[in-house]
Amino acid sequence: MIEFIVKMALYFLLWTLYSYTMHVIAHIPHKRNVLHKIHLAHHRYDYGDSKWPPWHDFFFWFGGWKESLDVWITFTLPILVLIWFDPVYGICLFGFHYIYEIFLSRNVLDHNPRLTGAYTNVIPVGQFHLKHHKFYKCNYSFFISIWDYLFRTNDSHVFKARRTRKTERERAAAEEGVH
Ligand SMILES: [Zn+2]
Ligand SMILES: [Zn+2]
Repeated sequence: MIEFIVKMALYFLLWTLYSYTMHVIAHIPHKRNVLHKIHLAHHRYDYGDSKWPPWHDFFFWFGGWKESLDVWITFTLPILVLIWFDPVYGICLFGFHYIYEIFLSRNVLDHNPRLTGAYTNVIPVGQFHLKHHKFYKCNYSFFISIWDYLFRTNDSHVFKARRTRKTERERAAAEEGVH
């Protein structure tokens, strides 16, 4: 049992690292970055007010081929690989992915502006993920925000670094003015 939990947790972490990485790549604007073009659809999508998913979500179709490919590449693909070489864990993870994507990923958790507590800094839902929608260059994590903190892409770090760079530029400009 312990072995199952530890292995499941490790696979889950690896999966979140993969989706984080794909999300970071999806935000690199380049004409050959297909993921970037696909992912823009996620940022344009209107999640509406209904808490009940549209019927097509149950078939893992998320409203358009771009939206669907985004989910399949970022989340589903590595689980299919896991099902191939470690099926029990892969199927468990797929169950989680299926339920989360259909019932929670829209405006119940990820895009719910009413979720504002400190817990959103650990579980990247509500305001944490919506800051990503607003500012783009921060808060790339899904399900657990550990990778944003580890790679220093969480919003508080990104904004602090930006402020420091701005102050340094201003100081350098002022010093140049003196000389
Ligand atoms: Zn994004
Ligand atoms: Zn989103």
